[in-house]
Amino acid sequence: MSIAERIKKIKDKLSHDIKLVAVSKNRTLDEILDAYKNGQVIFGENKVQELVNKYKKLPKDIEWHMIGHLQTNKVKEIAPFISLIHSVDSEKLIKEINKRAGQNNRKINCLLQVHIAEEKNKYGFNISQVEEIVSKINTYQNIQVIGLMGMATYTDDKQKINMEFDKLKKLYEKFKNNHFNTLSMGMSNDYLLAIKNQSNMIRVGSAIFGQRNN
Ligand SMILES: *Cc1c(COP(=O)(O)O)cnc(C)c1O
Repeated sequence: MSIAERIKKIKDKLSHDIKLVAVSKNRTLDEILDAYKNGQVIFGENKVQELVNKYKKLPKDIEWHMIGHLQTNKVKEIAPFISLIHSVDSEKLIKEINKRAGQNNRKINCLLQVHIAEEKNKYGFNISQVEEIVSKINTYQNIQVIGLMGMATYTDDKQKINMEFDKLKKLYEKFKNNHFNTLSMGMSNDYLLAIKNQSNMIRVGSAIFGQRNN
């Protein structure tokens, strides 16, 4: 199946209010252009250097999303152009994004990453920390927190994944309003389950571009 056919197959399963982020990490410029020419405009990357290189070389109307762990010293490189940062996982990072957004006269859209998985190596705030951060987020004038992001445990146990998504959905519903309206949850293997749990932004890599080599 071509990239275009894969995108269409996924989009056919999504209602119009669900956004598809094509995860293009480790993919070539040609693969991304192929998706772009077939109507895909949102791409997600997890490494700053790769993201910046691709941004420079590809069409300027692409919406770039940062989905991987972001180090504070790298924020300045993406602050001029990034559309959405999914992976905000510390207050230190919030302060830095706010500062760099201000220097660029921007308000940067962000999601708070929430740790819902069993694995220790996944980043994110604990559920209890989210409330505290949300309550003071308005003091950061150059950041708009528009929702939450989470990754489920990497497992075949659908029930477990469902429970983790349900946890994040319930947290999201506590804060949901006109501005806080984005729930980024679901990848190639679990996006249908994520959508059942109210996800409205899915991050899909291998189901669009094929298996990654790493
Ligand atoms: C790689 C990645 C994805 C996409 O994973 P696939 O299984 O290839 O769909 C989604 N979200 C994040 C944060 C990732 O790092």
